[in-house]
Formats: sequence, structure tokens, C-alpha cells
Amino acid sequence: MSYIIQRNQLLNSALAVHEEYAHKIASSTDLHFHGIQLELKYSASVLATSPNNDQIIDQELTRILKQSQYFNSVSFVKADGHLAGFAPLTLPFKKGQVMNTTATRLSLKYKESLITPPYNSALKNFLIYISEPVVDASGQYLGYVGGTIYLKEQNFISQLLSSQYGYQDNYMYVLDSQQRIIFHPDPSRIGDSAVGNTGLNTLMNEPYGNLRLVDTKGIDSLAGFSKISAPNWVVVSQQPTKQLLDQASNLLYKVILGMLFFYAFVFFVIWRFSYVIAQPLSDLADSASQLNQPDAEKNIRKIRPWYFEVAQFQKALLFSADHFQQTVDELNTIVKTDPLTGFYNRRGMQLYIDTFEKQQTNFAILAIDIDHFKTVNDQYGHAEGDRVLQHIAWQIQEQCRDQDICCRIGGEEFIVLLPNASYSLAQKVASRILQNRTQDKIAGIGQVTVSIGIAHWPTHHQNIDQTLQLADQRLYQAKADGRNCIR
Ligand code: GH3
Ligand code: MG
Ligand code: MG
Repeated sequence: MSYIIQRNQLLNSALAVHEEYAHKIASSTDLHFHGIQLELKYSASVLATSPNNDQIIDQELTRILKQSQYFNSVSFVKADGHLAGFAPLTLPFKKGQVMNTTATRLSLKYKESLITPPYNSALKNFLIYISEPVVDASGQYLGYVGGTIYLKEQNFISQLLSSQYGYQDNYMYVLDSQQRIIFHPDPSRIGDSAVGNTGLNTLMNEPYGNLRLVDTKGIDSLAGFSKISAPNWVVVSQQPTKQLLDQASNLLYKVILGMLFFYAFVFFVIWRFSYVIAQPLSDLADSASQLNQPDAEKNIRKIRPWYFEVAQFQKALLFSADHFQQTVDELNTIVKTDPLTGFYNRRGMQLYIDTFEKQQTNFAILAIDIDHFKTVNDQYGHAEGDRVLQHIAWQIQEQCRDQDICCRIGGEEFIVLLPNASYSLAQKVASRILQNRTQDKIAGIGQVTVSIGIAHWPTHHQNIDQTLQLADQRLYQAKADGRNCIR
């Protein structure tokens, strides 16, 4: 965008500058022509008073040539075409000879102020002739006075045009109404036709303006132009487009380079800043996917919540982690325990047995079974049976230490694991349970007794399963021996 805008601005301002410059040159050339014509008018008035006085004619012509510095030669030609005088006298002319030049033909034909189109003279000079009619007091046309300007030599117009020549490939040239080059910084092109210049139509038909054109040599150029009104010439100030666009490209490269550094810096700052913003969120997201890990809460607390949203997320996540842990704990408990009595179930019991085995903790086993429980159910109903189960479970728990593990492993069968308890201690606990059962009467039901089998690991067996089986066998032995006893 910057390139396009700058390029267009450069093109437009260059075109405007060229137009303005061509206009200045054209108007100052016009002024010069006007000055020249005034001078010639004065000389015409002098010559009109003494058209046949050779001395005055020579004096006046020499004066014009020497004073004005505009002309390469001057002459006074009578109405019949005879040469009345000329300067400098070095020219190969003779007074009185009949002139047959373009200037003579045109001046005598029109009898008024004129500037001839450029032409090649008999002396092989490419020139223009500026003439003024000489008219006496009675209004009779006596002839004309005028001077030549050799276009291929130094003159006031070439000086005007060359002052700007060379600046950044800018140059100026002048075309006449026949599309011929009258002035050009390259003198060899003066006199050539400008055919091929794509802007000719506009240059010839408009009084002033600017345009982009391809010149005679095929170079894409920017041009401003303006007419010199007196001889109907056009001054063109021109510059190759490429040279200007190269400037714009240079500018663009500098802008791009500057922006590159700027954006690299901005990008770096944004990148660091986004990282600082996003990092705690990313850490929280990682933690969120690992809520089931044991150190989830610790990891979440490690994240530094340096802005409000992260603090809120962290809070919510901590809450979730806590809730998750609680749920897991609850599920763990549910999985391990029997809902009716609150004792461990078979799975819970197995966990402790594994731990004891791993830690080589010796333990005693009480296998307890309620006697004739089916009868209780049958007589009092299942709900009453449950109440009896809860009651007996509670009493078993009463007789145990805190570290003892009470389990319900079947309908009305219990196992108590007594870690670090001797066989005799286990016997004492069993006796208390049995005694309790015999002495206690459950409200509305009466006496409900139990049978107990005892074993000790590793005293009775190295293998825990077999020790458990032994306790079970001893329980059945107690059943077989009449129940309400310990084996
Ligand atoms: P024994 O003296 O030989 O042990 O006889 P028993 O009747 O106690 O033994 P049995 O194995 O024949 O019957 C056990 C009964 O326990 C059967 C069942 O109705 C009852 N039972 C099992 N689980 C539950 C329970 O959770 N609640 C209730 N109320 N009764 C249960
Ligand atoms: Mg049973
Ligand atoms: Mg039973």
C-alpha cells in the first residue's frame, strides 16, 4: 500500500513539477521573443526614417547585432527583395543582391511581425528568422528588418533550457509545430523529427499539461509541457519514469527493512507476553487432565495465578481436585466395606492380609459364625435378622482393639484379624465374644449364640490361605461339637 501510494504521489508530483517547469521556461522564452520584437520594432522605426542612407543602415544593424546578443546575423531587405544592409559584414552577401530565402518570402508575403519556422539556410545553418516590417510615416511598406538565430549554436533559448539539464536525468527539449526538434541537450538531435513519441498528439494540441509517454527512443518518460505562443513551439520537460520509480523502490526497501526490525521486535514482545499469559492456563489444563494423580492438588497449587481469570480457574480446579479425591475415597471405602455392618468385606480383608504378608506382620484369625441364624430369619423376618447381624457385629467390634480388622465375609459369617496378637490373646478375645453372646439377650429375640474357630499365622501355617482354611475348619469343628463354643 505504502509503495503504491508513494509511487503515485511521486509520479503525480513529478508530472506537476515538469509541467510547472516547462511553463516557466515557455513564458520566459515568450518574454525574450517579445523583447526581441520590441528591439526590432525600434530599429524598424529608425530605418523607416532613412531607408536609403547606407551609413545609418549599417550603424543600426551593427548596433542590433552587438547590443542585443540575440542574433547570429541581422539584415534589412527592401520591399522588392533587395538586400539593403547586413551584419556582420563577414557574411558572403552583397548589398543590392536579391534575397530568395524562406525568411524573405514569408516576410514580404505577410508584411508583419513574424518568426519563421526553422529551416536550413543556403549557408547550411539550421535557423529561425525573426522579422519586423519597416513602414514609413505615410504607412508605406518599405521592407523588413530582422535577425537569425542559429539553432545548433549557443543562444538564449539553449541557455534557458540547459540550466536544468543533467539533474537526475531530467532534460528539456523544444518542438516546433511540424514536430521537429528545435532544441535538445544533445545537439545532434536538433533538426530531427520527433516521430515515434507517443505523446505527440497531446503535445501538439494542448496549450499545456503533463503526461506519461514513450519517447522517440522508446523510453517510458514523465513529461510536462507548455506552448511558447509567439512561434507556436512546445517546451517539454521530461524524465525517465524508471529513474523516478527506482527512487520509490529504494524508499520501499528502506521502509520494509525498518518495518521488519520493528515487527520483529513487536512480534517478540507479543510472543513473550502471550507466553506469560498462556503459560498458567496451559499448566492448569495439564493438571486438569491429571486430576486422578495423587499429587494433582500439589501441582495445581504450584501454578502462580498472576491474573484474576487464572486465579478463578485455579480455585475451581482445586475444588474439583478436592471433590474428585473425596469421591475416590468414598468409592474406595464403599468398595472395601459392607454397608449393613460397616465391617470390611472380603476385598477389604484381602487388602489387609496382603499388607500383613508384605510387612511380615503376624496375626491371629477368628472365624465367627452365628448359630441357627436361619431360624432367626424364619421366625422374625429378614429385617429383624439384619438387626441381629448389626447388633452382633457391634458387639464383636467392642471386644476388639483399634488396630484389629473386623470383616463380614458371608451372610452371617465374620472374620477378625488381630495383628501382632498371640494365639492365647486371640483365645481370650474369642472367649469374651462367646461369653457376651451367651449372657446377652437381644430384645424381642432372646439369646443368639456364635461358634468360633481360631488360627494363627505363621504359627499354624506358612501359607495364609491355608491358615484361613484352618480357622474355617475349626469353626466347623465348633459347629459339629454342638455350637456356642471355640475351637
Ligand atoms: P448353622 O448354625 O449351621 O450356622 O445354621 P445357620 O442357619 O446359621 O446356617 P445356614 O447357612 O443354614 O443359614 C444361614 C442363613 O443366614 C441363611 C440366610 O437366610 C441368612 N442370611 C444370610 N445373609 C443374610 C443377611 O444379610 N441378612 C439376613 N437377615 N439373613 C441373612
Ligand atoms: Mg453360616
Ligand atoms: Mg450360621
